[in-house]
Amino acid sequence: MQEDNFETLAIRLQAERTQFKEHSVPLYLTSSYKFDDAEEMRALFANEKEGNVYSRYANPNTTELIDKMAVLEGAETGWVTATGMAAIFTTFAAFLKSGDHVLSSRSVFGSTHQLLNGIFPKWGISYTYADLDNLEQWENGIQPNTKMIFVETPSNPGIDIIDLEWLAGLAKKHNILFVVDNCFATPYLQQPIKLGADISIHSATKFIDGQGRTLGGVILGSKELILEIEGFARHSGPAMSPFNAWLLSKSLETLAVRMDRHCENALKVANFLESNEAVKQVRYPFLPSHPQYEIAKKQMKQGGGIVTFVIAGGVTAAAQFMDKLKMFSISANLGDTRSIATHPATSTHSKLTEEERLQVGIEQGTIRLSIGLEHIDDILGDIKQALS
Ligand SMILES: *Cc1c(COP(=O)(O)O)cnc(C)c1O
Repeated sequence: MQEDNFETLAIRLQAERTQFKEHSVPLYLTSSYKFDDAEEMRALFANEKEGNVYSRYANPNTTELIDKMAVLEGAETGWVTATGMAAIFTTFAAFLKSGDHVLSSRSVFGSTHQLLNGIFPKWGISYTYADLDNLEQWENGIQPNTKMIFVETPSNPGIDIIDLEWLAGLAKKHNILFVVDNCFATPYLQQPIKLGADISIHSATKFIDGQGRTLGGVILGSKELILEIEGFARHSGPAMSPFNAWLLSKSLETLAVRMDRHCENALKVANFLESNEAVKQVRYPFLPSHPQYEIAKKQMKQGGGIVTFVIAGGVTAAAQFMDKLKMFSISANLGDTRSIATHPATSTHSKLTEEERLQVGIEQGTIRLSIGLEHIDDILGDIKQALS
């Protein structure tokens, strides 16, 4: 078995078989574990021995998912949580204290914005935003109390990109923890830790499950950093259920083939949209017209499953397009086998002011497409008829 073949590792890394020699990993629905004797209990609680104690801490299914994700992303180890937001909150809470400052990309997931903007100020943690395509804003945004650089690349829904190696260098120079939300790319397309990030976070709800069934979050990093995460998570309890871990671990077995098809279909959609008169602008990392195309090519294996475009005619035309779609689902989710269309200005980003939306590249005519795994003719056909 090749050490570094993603597909093989994603399938063949498994929890140990039980005495029943099952081929597929069983589901361990147990909240706690039995100790052989009083001494074993003492040793486990004293951290002198490795083993399962209680499923808020660890469970064979969550451990398998952590081990797999860590290997696939090139991290030492990791932690899993009930949702992607729990992973982000846990990471913030584990490393930040009152008086600290976060320098974050402006275009972050809506709930991440709510944490930074609405919740952390109450606890004395401040933030400023920088644009992914403006490196000076990052250099100038660092304050003496900046403790964390947080970034989403490619961004949602603007599909902006920043050079992760460059940003890792800046963070290192100032001794700042560098955290990447790698949800859009998945470990198959982009491996931030190999590019110098300290922590990589996923909403496993999206492409990792990939079938719209479950929520989940993953945090990856060095043993030392994950120990901090564990210290917070064991006691605050954002644990992933064994069932979800089992499901997500199975999903990883098909991540590579699914992502290949998502990307192949998305690139065809991006090319088609770019040649359509009703479309003002298309954003996809692997389109040569993308302003950061060279960086995308350097740090991503393929362009991902999300295509964002601006339809001429603003909100009216956008609503008409959405209503004419026959196959695409209108949903706020992404990263599903089913193709999905979202109108960010009236849904995921409706809480922002118009000015804030424009700053992150969302116009009234902006539409985000999560390209699924249906036949490409049906995907293109549906878009074509809805644009006509
Ligand atoms: C969905 C998403 C999250 C939040 O994940 P949940 O599993 O919904 O909590 C965080 N970051 C990005 C980029 C996302 O798309």
